[in-house]
Amino acid sequence: MYTGLAMSCIFCKIVEGSIPSRAVYQDELAFAFTDLNPQAPTHVLIVPREHLGSMSDASFEQRELLGHLMWVAAEIAEKCGLGKGYRVVVNTGEDGGQTVKHLHLHLLGGRSMTWPPG
Ligand code: AMP
Ligand code: ZN
Repeated sequence: MYTGLAMSCIFCKIVEGSIPSRAVYQDELAFAFTDLNPQAPTHVLIVPREHLGSMSDASFEQRELLGHLMWVAAEIAEKCGLGKGYRVVVNTGEDGGQTVKHLHLHLLGGRSMTWPPG
């Protein structure tokens, strides 16, 4: 069940199952699925099950949830064989390039990354 902003949120709908996705991991707090428009051989999105707009919206009480999402990213990276390394990106707000307003971690791997990002 969700209300308000979350009702029109595509990632809430993916978590709920009303929009299909290719799930790669789930637990009581997090859900992870492959990105529709992959930017690397491995491109997974990790989201909290509860609606949270962005990093900027996280409360003090949600700090452990943020840490959990990072742990999930490392778990998936290991399971996907990204032993050579990977990148975790959290686009936040307009300048950060965030297009979907439900917090998500991008886990990118399977190729060498460049720096600085665009
Ligand atoms: P961001 O630009 O950081 O907000 O990232 C949003 C990401 O969501 C993009 O990489 C999109 O390709 C991805 N995306 C949007 N809709 C879907 C969907 N239905 N299933 C999987 N990935 C999606
Ligand atoms: Zn949402």
